[in-house]
Amino acid sequence: MSIAENVKLVKENIEAAAIRCGRDPADIKLVAATKMNDAFRVREAIAAGVDICGENRVQELQEKLAQGAYDGCPLHFIGHLQKNKVKYIIGKVELIHSVDSVSLAQEINKRAAALGLTQDILLEVNIGAEENKSGFAPEELACALDEMAQFSSIRVLGLMAIPPVCEISENNRVYFRRMKQLFIDIGQKKYDNVIMQLLSMGMSADYEVAVEEGANLVRVGTGIFGARNYALK
Ligand SMILES: *Cc1c(COP(=O)(O)O)cnc(C)c1O
Repeated sequence: MSIAENVKLVKENIEAAAIRCGRDPADIKLVAATKMNDAFRVREAIAAGVDICGENRVQELQEKLAQGAYDGCPLHFIGHLQKNKVKYIIGKVELIHSVDSVSLAQEINKRAAALGLTQDILLEVNIGAEENKSGFAPEELACALDEMAQFSSIRVLGLMAIPPVCEISENNRVYFRRMKQLFIDIGQKKYDNVIMQLLSMGMSADYEVAVEEGANLVRVGTGIFGARNYALK
């Protein structure tokens, strides 16, 4: 299947999942996870109607940005972000999904302030309590959100999660549901520099379940571009 056909199918699946649970499909945005796909393929996905491009690695983002790969499409950063790379993406990406520590938020705030802009971010939650995964533990969130009050050049717009890899998408429903509950609970409290609007969860294997459980940003790579060939890199 072509990238265009894949995008069409993913969008149809999102729409069907939304309708199944009484949501407006227009509230859900499709983020194309573009890692390891070149500018040509990224442009194909944009032409086919993905809402947003999500990049994982800073260097790859810089290369493709220089090639104009994302022209006409909002760009997000979705991968693990090292503090020393923050300076390369501030002001270039609309949203950073993967803020997994207060010190990373602090660095983003510092760099955004220096450029006189506000950087929108999501806090990443390690919802499966996996040792090898980054993100805040759910019980750390309240404290982290309190800390955001000091950072007037960032705005926390929501939460992001990557649940455990699963073979049966239904198995992740419980994690998505927990994320939605955290999202609601936080939204009911008042934190400075925090507005709970975005819930980024669901990938190729489980985005339909994520939509059913309240995701409004889904990040799909393989389902759009096909399997990534890591052996080439
Ligand atoms: C690669 C990636 C995705 C997409 O994964 P697929 O399973 O290929 O859809 C989503 N989110 C993040 C953070 C990723 O790195």
